[in-house]
Amino acid sequence: MDPILLTVIVVAAVVLVGGGLALVLSRRGDALPPPDVLDEITRETIDHPEHPEPHLASDDEEAPFEEVPADERPGATSTLERPDASQGRLVRLRSRLARSNSSLGRGLLAVLGRSTLDDEAWEELEDTLLAADVGVKPTTELVERLRTRVRVEGIDDPEAARSVLREELIAAIGPDRDRALAATGADGKPGVVLVVGVNGTGKTTTVGRIARVLVADDRSVLLGAADTFRAAAADQLQTWGERVGVPTVRGPEGGDPASVGFEAVQRGIADGVDVVLLDTAGRLHTKAGLMDELGKVKRVVEKQAPVTEVLLVIDATTGQNGLAQARVFGEVVDVTGIVLTKLDGTAKGGIVIAVQNELGVPVKFVGLGEGADDLAPFDAAEFVDALLS
Ligand code: GDP
Repeated sequence: MDPILLTVIVVAAVVLVGGGLALVLSRRGDALPPPDVLDEITRETIDHPEHPEPHLASDDEEAPFEEVPADERPGATSTLERPDASQGRLVRLRSRLARSNSSLGRGLLAVLGRSTLDDEAWEELEDTLLAADVGVKPTTELVERLRTRVRVEGIDDPEAARSVLREELIAAIGPDRDRALAATGADGKPGVVLVVGVNGTGKTTTVGRIARVLVADDRSVLLGAADTFRAAAADQLQTWGERVGVPTVRGPEGGDPASVGFEAVQRGIADGVDVVLLDTAGRLHTKAGLMDELGKVKRVVEKQAPVTEVLLVIDATTGQNGLAQARVFGEVVDVTGIVLTKLDGTAKGGIVIAVQNELGVPVKFVGLGEGADDLAPFDAAEFVDALLS
């Protein structure tokens, strides 16, 4: 080929390729926002996890429900949290329990440590138990048993008195009650846990924390936001789920809570999950009609699968009010377990005994702080040891 022609062709090719490349690069530069704007977008995504990327629509386009997958966002799985193992949490959180209940433990030990236990001392012991929300009937029974044992066994030194007190407190709480979460379904269906309680007691937080306990135990979980009165409650629940890769089924704001429960369990069955946790609306206890609604949620859900556990959440700091709530909820749904939250913030640990006595069902979990894993499976002996430490 003519060398001049060859040179012309090479130069033309370089100009063409170079120009094209420059054009592409400049276009791409236009498309990308400056770095500070990018930072802003990233920050928004992180700061507002309640607005995740596209929701996975329901199978039926018309259905008002949506299952919000927890791991749809790119890279979401790499940021999932690993919840603490649930075993040994009560021991780990013992110092908080001991701190919050110290006045009860100290008060009891101070009286029992006296050289003579006269009527006045026993009355004082009774007052200490009552002040700690143990309740009249359990207090009377406990004091009676302690008095009898101290007399019959001739107990006259503080160490022996302490050990009798420990034994009797554990007996009053019930060391042999089954406190395991009933979260195993039958016939290949998921376990269904209905979480009820008055707003503000820590219900949604409890659902989120139980999801973490289950995830830590390698169980697959689906959340149902049956508190449709407050959009914020559903957002809050969804955020808890997203942190550990658990999807949430939610319905339209103001929609029928029973429908959301139904839909969530239906999805749980279809997806083959181990446990469906249902959060419910909690401003119910004053209105009979709304309480009936809670009964309806359970009935409707049970068209899909039996509810294996109804957990009532009670704020330990509310004392007698909490017990009144327990009574009302107990009449509407068959409560099978109790979660006592905020035990870190009260010196009234006696409510453990009172509420069990009131409802005849065991305390299964206690909340001991605001952290994501500050929910501990309850154990009578560990609790009493914390009380008396
Ligand atoms: P809900 O309205 O019943 O769903 O209550 P939330 O789950 O929104 O909780 C209400 C408040 O109680 C939140 O600020 C929680 O962080 C707080 N809370 C829940 N459990 C505990 C606990 O065990 N200890 C403490 N200190 N705070 C708790």
